[in-house]
Amino acid sequence: MISPETFQSILLAWYDRSGRKDFPWQRPRSPYRVWVSEIMLQQTQVGTVVPYFQRFTAAFPTVEALARAELDQVLRHWAGLGYYARARNLHRAANQIVAEHDGDMPASQEALIQLPGIGRSTAGAILSLAYDRPAPILDGNVKRLWCRLHAIGNEESPSATERRLWGLSEKYLPRRRNADYTQALMDFGATLCTRTRPRCPDCPLQAHCLAYRTGRVTELPAPRPRRTKPVKSSYWLLLRDPSGRIYLQQRPPSGIWAGLWTPPHWDCPEGLKNHCHRLNLQPDRLQWLAERKHTFTHYTLRYTPALIDLEEALSLVHDRPSRWLMPTHASQLAMPTPVRRLLSDPVIT
Ligand code: SF4
Repeated sequence: MISPETFQSILLAWYDRSGRKDFPWQRPRSPYRVWVSEIMLQQTQVGTVVPYFQRFTAAFPTVEALARAELDQVLRHWAGLGYYARARNLHRAANQIVAEHDGDMPASQEALIQLPGIGRSTAGAILSLAYDRPAPILDGNVKRLWCRLHAIGNEESPSATERRLWGLSEKYLPRRRNADYTQALMDFGATLCTRTRPRCPDCPLQAHCLAYRTGRVTELPAPRPRRTKPVKSSYWLLLRDPSGRIYLQQRPPSGIWAGLWTPPHWDCPEGLKNHCHRLNLQPDRLQWLAERKHTFTHYTLRYTPALIDLEEALSLVHDRPSRWLMPTHASQLAMPTPVRRLLSDPVIT
């Protein structure tokens, strides 16, 4: 097994030559900017994150500015990145930092993991990247590297494997250059020891890599058993008034797409038709559009929009915040990607 000293020296030498040093969160680097970037990068590719990060930190340059902002404004800057719980947690955590830490990002793992949305690996990334402290991380890139370097498959239970991988993250921690080391680990997995096409011939760890030496690179890390995702159906009512505006409602503060704006929707077409009856709209005026699909982590959503053109403005009883919005003004509200896509469909605009 490669020693920590050898591993660190090979990895840091590789980082000095080939690491990524020009991300906007690296210049300037601050605990707040590292935190925001780490949360954005949790489920989103770096190329997508960069422009979002720039816009987000321009709008909310400090923890205080983020805490002061309305949640709706924060969600609007997040719209399109998906996994909106991340934005809600950022906002809640910013308020907690202001209330409990005078607006300073905590500098200990115990305090960081008390904040919503920060787990052990994200806390490690903030401590090492922002404060240059020795703190382990274990994101997907690092897991893949440990699994290949040490030929770890699924011989043990998932929780035992997780413990073993965390043990490796701790074992290989250096005493110095912690920020560079963590960035190097992330970059190595993202650019060299990649999931589908690792560049083993160029790899400085090749001589120490058990997966490479035993011809198991393509089979490690062992894929998780795939479960078939359940499918949920949804029927969306698109009321369009004579000026072309679409009726949207804000979703409740918890549950799927919490706080975002969507058309009213039902789990079955009958619910939608009954609602039309209540509004004195004949369901035969509904123009059913093609079914579409959106994939969540735990299920697939199949949604069918139904458009109805109103001859005159309708007065509606609002059970939650609602707006009539021109589809071309979609960026004014925080809405999930499928709604944004739907509003840009030529049938709607
Ligand atoms: S030799 Fe290949 S599999 Fe092993 S660490 Fe290097 S890139 Fe990854």
